[in-house]
Amino acid sequence: MKHKRLELPNLPYAYDALEPVISKKIMELHHTRHHLAYVTGMNAAMDRLEKARAGEGLDIDYKATMRDLSFFTNGHKLHSIFWQNMRKTKKDNAPSGALLEKIEEQFGSFEKFQAEFAGAAKTVEGSGWAALVADGEDLHVIQIQNQNLMTIVETKVLLLLDVWEHAYYLDYQNDRGKYVDAFWSIINWDDVAARLV
Ligand code: MN
Repeated sequence: MKHKRLELPNLPYAYDALEPVISKKIMELHHTRHHLAYVTGMNAAMDRLEKARAGEGLDIDYKATMRDLSFFTNGHKLHSIFWQNMRKTKKDNAPSGALLEKIEEQFGSFEKFQAEFAGAAKTVEGSGWAALVADGEDLHVIQIQNQNLMTIVETKVLLLLDVWEHAYYLDYQNDRGKYVDAFWSIINWDDVAARLV
């Protein structure tokens, strides 16, 4: 049985659409180099596993291969959601309707949710993500280290912020906090709301 291979998805906007929050240069590199590397990494792991299953390479390093399977698959999935989570800068950008009510019910207010999400994003140790996830009826803010550590299984990912240095260093150097604070104006809340239902 052959597993399907991943493909790099197109962005739902032009590379310069998120300026000035995220530059065209970062978006180009992030999509065509970094995301592509996760796609090819996952496909290479599948190639190794299929060879082993066919008896052509029984000496594969299972530990390394399964680390790759998890790391690269999540890298691909996380970036695919992250691209959809963003759109052109919008003034007074905020959620509304059922999503806003849910956030207020779960976090106390939108401002308290912002404080928690930004707090998570700014304090991820090394490379990783801040994520808003739904665990059944409950919403949680979590930190994901690298692409695959500290996540919670069987949750639905609603909103992501990539805080790997490759996501902001060209624009913000080491000031991750400034990047996190600028993120609020480019969140596509319609996309986030669609993931909740
Ligand atoms: Mn990234």
